[in-house]
Amino acid sequence: MLILKNASFVPFLTEGTDLKKGDVLVKGGLIDSIVPCGTDPGKGYEGAEILDLGGKTLLPGLIDLHCHLFYENIGALMKGNGQPQPEFAINTLRYAQKFLDCGYTTVRDVGDNHCRPAMYVRNFINSGKVKGPRITTSGPIISSNWTTLDTLDIFACGSDGFRDAVRKNFAQGADFIKLYGSGSLMMPSNEPGYPIIESDEIEAAVLVAKRNSSYVSVHAHGKTAIDMCVKAGVHTIEHASMISADTLNYIDDNGLDTALVLTMYAIDEILEEPETYNGKRMHQIMPTIKESLLRAYNDHKNILLGWGTDVSLEKFTSDPMREFRLRKETLGMSNEDILRQATIDSAKIIFQEDKVGSIKAGKYADFVVVDGDPAADISVMYKVPEHVVKGGEIVR
Ligand SMILES: [Zn+2]
Repeated sequence: MLILKNASFVPFLTEGTDLKKGDVLVKGGLIDSIVPCGTDPGKGYEGAEILDLGGKTLLPGLIDLHCHLFYENIGALMKGNGQPQPEFAINTLRYAQKFLDCGYTTVRDVGDNHCRPAMYVRNFINSGKVKGPRITTSGPIISSNWTTLDTLDIFACGSDGFRDAVRKNFAQGADFIKLYGSGSLMMPSNEPGYPIIESDEIEAAVLVAKRNSSYVSVHAHGKTAIDMCVKAGVHTIEHASMISADTLNYIDDNGLDTALVLTMYAIDEILEEPETYNGKRMHQIMPTIKESLLRAYNDHKNILLGWGTDVSLEKFTSDPMREFRLRKETLGMSNEDILRQATIDSAKIIFQEDKVGSIKAGKYADFVVVDGDPAADISVMYKVPEHVVKGGEIVR
């Protein structure tokens, strides 16, 4: 049992109450009720742990929908299979715990190493053996392109090959499926605009995922690859960098639940090195990326935009909350939209809005506490939250 006393709420992230301030009662890892400050919690709360927030703001735990937990730093990634497997496993746990410490109580791993350390870490966290955020993971990415990294991918070819690979990933414990749809912005050998998959392969994956009550996410930067994915029934487009006006209209006109998971931190990391091949290329295509993402944001309010970071543990540690600053400064999004994207909108995208994403009786008691009102001043989110609570346990 836990009582969070004297909390200030952000109204659009706090459901089932009109209170601006209050106490939150937590029992069995869930939010039990939200009551006026100082209410006697009554029977069953004797000996409860108390955290007095003194008017600081209580938000739901943050959600990152695009990370790779095994990814320590770029040097290790490029070594490919040269990195010992135990290092991947230990780094996966380190990164998961770093996320939790920074207020991310739910993360989605969209591309595990082929030995699946994120699945093992997920299972260990779920069984209570180690601490960490709630994890959903795709297992290794399924790719038809032999130039991407062999540490990451399962290679498949044709609709039969994709069906087989998708079934195997589910059998081994994947929560959803991740495919490579276009070249990468990080690999000098890749062309981010080019599709590297065919429609029949995506459709086969989507069908098998549906049979498993799940969905497909695809890495796609270029407009052709994105359009192909949307029309084949992909649920989350990762990065979505150069999505076209036609594809956005198609999503809206057909009432699709396709969501776009933006990863501004990963883009910014490449922009920071303008002398490299990747950096030069990124500076050239940045105006197109910005125009495409702003069109999605400004003209298509029904399309959910998810929260992603997609950087290494080393980079994330250097500035864990940078995604908040980039969505404000690069894309000029409203404070409310940024906060929704990092919480309830990302929860909806992964069909978990009944458990996480807002403060509501019955949901998991996952919270962060920040000093100031982020709805009025988003820079409150540029630094790591003061407190983190997951499932009613104070992380710090
Ligand atoms: Zn990624």
